[in-house]
Amino acid sequence: MKHLLTIAGSDSSGGAGIQADLKAFAAHGVFGMSVITAVTAQNTCGVTAVQDITPEIITAQIDAVFSDIRVDAVKIGMVSRQESIHAIAEALKKWKPPIVVVDPVMISKSGYPLLQPEACDALIKELLPCATLLTPNLPEAESICGFSICTEEDMEKAAACIIGLGAKAVLVKGGHLEGERADDYLYDGKNGTWLPGERIQTEHTHGTGCTLSSALASNLAKGMDLTEAVTAAKAYVTTGIRHGIALGHGHGPVHHFV
Ligand code: PLP
Repeated sequence: MKHLLTIAGSDSSGGAGIQADLKAFAAHGVFGMSVITAVTAQNTCGVTAVQDITPEIITAQIDAVFSDIRVDAVKIGMVSRQESIHAIAEALKKWKPPIVVVDPVMISKSGYPLLQPEACDALIKELLPCATLLTPNLPEAESICGFSICTEEDMEKAAACIIGLGAKAVLVKGGHLEGERADDYLYDGKNGTWLPGERIQTEHTHGTGCTLSSALASNLAKGMDLTEAVTAAKAYVTTGIRHGIALGHGHGPVHHFV
């Protein structure tokens, strides 16, 4: 069995963050482990508070896992502080996991900042070069690249920019682009592939980014190549969105199928 580690924030409502990652891992038949970077108080209506875990405790969690257990892939989600990003980058250099999928989480769908503004630089300089695959949505790609992304050509430019910053591969997610489609662009510095995506009209999309990156890390750990891994992960998330759960009073979570 493959062993997957998520390094991310906790979502008390169970739809995103660590909780979504562990559900996605279970659904992919891999063994899930977690390093918690922050505890968020949130529900389907939004985030009300965040408590960051200290960098020392983040490092201790990572060391505890790696010193004992083989880790086949790491997924990194919400890491809001510069010091935490630094601690994680140092730990990755020490333990050298073979696959690192980084979801550069910046802001929740409800608009709550999940990355401190001064930490964006650290994310770009320290975490991005560790990424086997980076999975930004358009606002995240815009923050990383520093230009606005309004067309598919812009998405291709952003992908090239992110490879230039040191990620080995990037999946620029087109869900925020206007129009009928939600196509994503996968680029590894040599080959660029457009992956068609279906836009599903629903309110219940909480945790889609977390779920996609965890599904991707699972698929890569199981030996799929990049294109196969992305295609399968997109199919998993699309099904999850189609069966999104009307939980609470706001935006419900995607469904995980075990
Ligand atoms: N909370 C945590 C802990 C997260 O990691 C994320 C996203 O990665 C979110 C909330 C945001 O989820 P969404 O934007 O899907 O509502």
